[in-house]
Amino acid sequence: MTNLPNPLRIAIIGSGPSGFYTAEYLLKQAAKSGLTIEIDLIERLPTPFGLVRGGVAPDHQKIKSVTKAFDRIAADPRLRFFGHVDVGHDISHQELLDHYHQVVYAVGAQSDRHMNIPGEDLPGSYPATEFVGWYNAHPDFRDLTFGLSATAAAVIGNGNVAMDVARILAKTPDELAKTDIADYALVALAHSQVTDIYVIGRRGPLQAAFTTPELKELGELDCTEVIVRPGEVALDAESAADLAASADKVTRDNMAVLEAMSQRPAQGKPRRLHLLFLRSPVRLLGKDRVEAIELAHNRLTRSSDGSLRPHATGETEILPVGLVFRSIGYKGAPLPDTPFDEAHGVIPNEGGHVESGGELLPGEYAVGWIKRGPSGVIGTNRPDAVETATHMIQDALAGDTLQPAHPSRAEFEALLASRNVEVVDYAGWQTLDRLEREAGAAVGRPRIKFSRVEDMLAALHSEAEKLPS
Ligand code: NAP
Repeated sequence: MTNLPNPLRIAIIGSGPSGFYTAEYLLKQAAKSGLTIEIDLIERLPTPFGLVRGGVAPDHQKIKSVTKAFDRIAADPRLRFFGHVDVGHDISHQELLDHYHQVVYAVGAQSDRHMNIPGEDLPGSYPATEFVGWYNAHPDFRDLTFGLSATAAAVIGNGNVAMDVARILAKTPDELAKTDIADYALVALAHSQVTDIYVIGRRGPLQAAFTTPELKELGELDCTEVIVRPGEVALDAESAADLAASADKVTRDNMAVLEAMSQRPAQGKPRRLHLLFLRSPVRLLGKDRVEAIELAHNRLTRSSDGSLRPHATGETEILPVGLVFRSIGYKGAPLPDTPFDEAHGVIPNEGGHVESGGELLPGEYAVGWIKRGPSGVIGTNRPDAVETATHMIQDALAGDTLQPAHPSRAEFEALLASRNVEVVDYAGWQTLDRLEREAGAAVGRPRIKFSRVEDMLAALHSEAEKLPS
């Protein structure tokens, strides 16, 4: 035990749920294991929380209350938040290895999957991930514009992100004003001409990835009615057999809600949200921008792994839409000088320990979506983080860590200072949080978010000037 690094210096790259949960478990277990640790939680933006701030829908405020638990983790004196530090730009991968005994990548899945069909990149066709970042005031996406003058929009995919995108398109300005949606998005959506939203699944209702509360919400909108034609929820024989044999509550509840929706009389609301199943996009049509989408009708056949997969029947249809949101899943992006599995969009790892060419790399770990792919809810990251952090503690106790030349926090801070990096610490974030809430309270909203990094830094300077010198 005497030869253990003291303190054991750990960098967690990314401050979303998986980063925070990893920190939480390390802080708890280190003391029990006789390890003195220091965690630097390094984040590209001045603001923490990853997809809890930039991904969770603005009308799902309750889900965002998980940040209270993150605040408690951040209050531990062994953890320090380094916001506004961009790994790969401000500091290199090698510099991380030179300053820490252990490095954990908790960077999430920063890209999106492609449909690989003709017309996919026509103006008017967007990855849902960009729209989500835009309405959530993420600085990377705040300057995008979306063709909201179209009257019909298609949302491709049957996951919860597709549900979020469809619902945000369907809500009225009054409904959206109760949320912390970006102020510019509130204005743009208030001028939206979209009256018909088509959510398109390539498989049937039984195979949809969305969950029941998100589905139910579609039926509770002020000015949009959900339209599910009875034929859409009629199950093929294989799906019916799966349903009869299934103990999965989500599947059964989804089917019950969809069947009830299909029986609902028309309400005559000014907007409509149509749920279409068993249709795959095969091309986007349009001269200068999207004018329509061609859909191939599918039937399901049993594949060797037991799942039901879509196959084209040969029948197609053309749906006139001026907007397409591709919501078919996030995808991890490579980090500089770090192993990457292109096919799966993850850092190759064994239980969170990064591997390259069949060898485990000493001191390097992954957690969350960059470790396992973009699946699960926020809480799924907790057991995932426990797995990675358990390996980290075991490896540290076995002396299997990096051997950094500069293992002190002071040296890391000096490196950042030499690059003129303006670090935002947790107190800085808490100031931004207070300013956002105060701005929101003044107009009856939960918060008004900063969406530009320069504005965040300027606000922090101006608050610092108010302090007594
Ligand atoms: P997802 O749940 O993996 O759903 C992706 C959807 O895209 C599936 O319906 C999939 O169909 C479809 N798809 C994939 N490739 C396609 C293609 N080439 N053509 C047509 N459809 C295609 O992904 P997500 O919606 O991005 O969500 C990511 C994760 O975040 C999920 O775990 C989700 O539950 C979670 N999330 C949760 C919430 C919440 O709790 N409220 C909100 C947002 C996100 P197949 O099934 O046929 O592959």
